[in-house]
Amino acid sequence: MSSEAQRVATRIDSFRNLAIELERKLTAVPALDPGSGGDGEEKKAQLILGLLEQMGVKEIEVIRAEDQRVSSGTRPNIVARIPGKDRSRTVWLMSHMDVVPAGKLEDWDSDPWEVRVEGDKIYGRGVEDNQQGLVASLLLAQALHDEGVQPARDLGLLFVADEETGNRLGIEHLLDHHEIFGADDIIVVPDGGEPDGSAIEVAEKGIVWIKVTVKGRSTHGSTPERGINAHLAAAHLIVKLDEALPRRFDKRNDVFDPPESTFAVTKIDPGVQNVNTIPGEHTFYLDCRVMPDYDLSQVIEAVKAAAADIDAARGTSTEVLAVQRMDAAPPTANDAPVVGALQRAIRTVYGVEARPMGIGGGTVAACIRRKGFSAAVWARMDETMHGPNEYCIVGNLLGDAKVFAHLLF
Ligand SMILES: [Zn+2]
Repeated sequence: MSSEAQRVATRIDSFRNLAIELERKLTAVPALDPGSGGDGEEKKAQLILGLLEQMGVKEIEVIRAEDQRVSSGTRPNIVARIPGKDRSRTVWLMSHMDVVPAGKLEDWDSDPWEVRVEGDKIYGRGVEDNQQGLVASLLLAQALHDEGVQPARDLGLLFVADEETGNRLGIEHLLDHHEIFGADDIIVVPDGGEPDGSAIEVAEKGIVWIKVTVKGRSTHGSTPERGINAHLAAAHLIVKLDEALPRRFDKRNDVFDPPESTFAVTKIDPGVQNVNTIPGEHTFYLDCRVMPDYDLSQVIEAVKAAAADIDAARGTSTEVLAVQRMDAAPPTANDAPVVGALQRAIRTVYGVEARPMGIGGGTVAACIRRKGFSAAVWARMDETMHGPNEYCIVGNLLGDAKVFAHLLF
């Protein structure tokens, strides 16, 4: 380990109070989406810009995406760089400024917008998602500044908008309109992980939610032979799908947990309200998490084929509709430089052997992977995000900042 990395890490260890103070300031400016009654990230962005300036960061660009729903008219994305000795490669830390609403206040033990510190835990909305990554990035910048150390390569800090509601005005805007990343850059998204820091997320399954509406013919409950029971036909279809889909889409990959595609029947729409009516319509939904090897259209077609068989046998007519679809991005390779660099840094700081993992779908890193860059999601966290009494562990905040420091040297 270089002595410079060690100095930076030791400095970060002294930042407990600073970490809490940063969490306090950031939590007090809720960056909520206008769709949930918020005014976007502008105030929080101004706070972060002020902090970066105090830390001596000079290369800062604010890239704005237009949004007339917020008072500033734009959603800000901050791109900051701390120059390294070798400027050809950058280590990027990307965190998002927006947070989700607090939910029911009575479910919280304290005001979600005013942090409460209890032992090693900081409570408040957003303290973990994604301020743990955000603050860890700032601590690293502060430590480099205080130690007067220039990293071996550039450190890029990316603070984006609009992560919680689809990324269109955040990372996707940056990727579509600006050249931010280089082919050899290391991109880390500290926005998910395991309590011991052992999971480096590199892949995700595709997600498709399918609405299936089986139509029969309603009649009185005493004369079922005069109708076509849509509920019964749907039951047969559900059983058929439960057998057919896992068999048809059977590829396995151990980076995922579970290591195969899953096809779960979940929601049903309300049907008949009384017991003595044969239901003429039954609607159910499938939540499918599919290995990246498959095109989601194949899954939709397979559901349609099974429905056609049931329709032919029972006289029903069935509509199959994908109501939500997110195709999987190409996975980041298990041996990509970002994975190895993180593994070494995590071993040094936490003494943990981290492994590349896949998840059920839906991380912001997919936007980056889709553009052909490698990116890994990693943090050491309990994942209390989005619930009441969200917390972040101070030791993780400092530890993660040290892991990021090691990526730089
Ligand atoms: Zn997040």
